[in-house]
Amino acid sequence: MATIRASCSDCGDVELTTSDVNVRICEDDNSGTYAFRCPYCKMTVVKSAETRTIDLLVASGVAFTTWRLPAELFETHIGEPITHDDLLDFHDLLEDELALGTIMSDLADT
Ligand SMILES: [Zn+2]
Repeated sequence: MATIRASCSDCGDVELTTSDVNVRICEDDNSGTYAFRCPYCKMTVVKSAETRTIDLLVASGVAFTTWRLPAELFETHIGEPITHDDLLDFHDLLEDELALGTIMSDLADT
């Protein structure tokens, strides 16, 4: 099993094995991170890494998982972003069943 040298921001350089490290690769932009639990302070350390480093980790036997960016990032957004006032109005609307029913009915017609 290969030895992997990494660093914890609190404890400094640490030595790990391939089973101590996990790699995550984003399928959309091919960015990668690796994570491990520091053997000294027991905190989880997550670091981004270049593709070359990620490829080396995976080639040496580190387990990896893939993930995708949320689909909402690719949606087309129309109009202004909602504000705190919008949220307060919505909260008030949720307590007014008559007004909420009217709006829901109007939305169903469109
Ligand atoms: Zn540490």
